[in-house]
Amino acid sequence: MFSAINRKVKRFVLRQQKKKPLVLISDTTLRDGAQMPGVRLRPAQKVTIAQALADAGIHSIDCGFPAAGSEELEGVRQIARQVKGPTLSALARTVIADIDLAAEALTGVSPLKRAVTLFIGTSPLHRAHKHEMGKSQIIETACRAIEYAQKYFEIISFGPEDASRTEPDFLFEVYENAIQAGALSIGFTDTVGILTPAKAGDMVRRIQDNVASMDDAMLAVHFHNDLGLATANSLACVQAGANVVQGTVNGIGERAGNVPIEEVVMALVLHEDEFKKKVTVNPRALASLCALVAKLTRFEPAVNKAVIGRNIFRTEAGIHQDGILAHPDTYMPFPPETIGAGPVELVLGAQSGRSAVRHHLAATGLDVNEEHVELVLNYLKGRPHNPADYPEIHEFLERLQPFMAEDLGEALAAERAQREAG
Ligand code: MN
Repeated sequence: MFSAINRKVKRFVLRQQKKKPLVLISDTTLRDGAQMPGVRLRPAQKVTIAQALADAGIHSIDCGFPAAGSEELEGVRQIARQVKGPTLSALARTVIADIDLAAEALTGVSPLKRAVTLFIGTSPLHRAHKHEMGKSQIIETACRAIEYAQKYFEIISFGPEDASRTEPDFLFEVYENAIQAGALSIGFTDTVGILTPAKAGDMVRRIQDNVASMDDAMLAVHFHNDLGLATANSLACVQAGANVVQGTVNGIGERAGNVPIEEVVMALVLHEDEFKKKVTVNPRALASLCALVAKLTRFEPAVNKAVIGRNIFRTEAGIHQDGILAHPDTYMPFPPETIGAGPVELVLGAQSGRSAVRHHLAATGLDVNEEHVELVLNYLKGRPHNPADYPEIHEFLERLQPFMAEDLGEALAAERAQREAG
């Protein structure tokens, strides 16, 4: 009786939540992200990242997979003890021991802020080669686990692994059964990152059309970036009605990684007119969040990585520098402050023009004339390249070194070392 009422109340709250024009961002940096080869996050580091995610306004955190090992379990425990705000979830296979451990790891978290995410492979490949189960056995196993998890959890997410390669009709059946068994959220997972935006969006629409109980569960999507389409796929799914996007900071994760949260957030923020939905993540927190994860994972994203790569607010080309000095928006999609990033960098290199040289020289406070500008420009363009050939602007070159392209800065430093040694 009580549980029937409880379920009605939960369904009511969930339907209200689904009506809000919101995209919830779920983070799996600490679980799927940390599965990236070479990345190892200690429990205390996980707490630091989880706290930063909470401060940034992330809705829910996939804290780890307690059954995967003692350090993983400890990470979830410590986050549970120390981090407040987001819903904290632990991952579990559809087996009792995993669910028990997930519940134990999240002890102390308030019932409305703790969740378990259950997974089982549903595609023909996973059924045949991983689980050695038929379709009905998969459904039965999933439902039994969902029912069992209610012993501990009010919030149960169910994510069929390899959903994107599962026969659609079977997938709809799995979802329907999972929701009826008590799952409050179902996941559409592109485990191997194979989909395109049109196909992803189409599946999200079909799920809503074909799963009778879909109003009673959130629909979450989880993409990998094997074709470089994870962000586009996530956005297509938001457009098609998905409520939750799960991703990782800096897009870390298996193979080509997960969908980068910073990209999804910025696309949604800059195109609110298109998606007509808000995110609770504060974009101004993104640069520091990405820097923190880069530091603790010791994985620095590529300089040309979308949204947060080092070159996003950095240019060496004369025409771009000229434009940016006249008005910063000329060659940037959004100002660095939008994501809490540092100032625009006008790099001094072979491609730079007079205006950037003049700009940097003026900032030195030294007495500078146009002849100096011309000499510095010649040096940058390598005519000739040896700093020793420019005694009259030596002081200027020294001052400009922090702004120089890597190769020039290094040449200058080498020349200085030689001079000091000699
Ligand atoms: Mn994944």
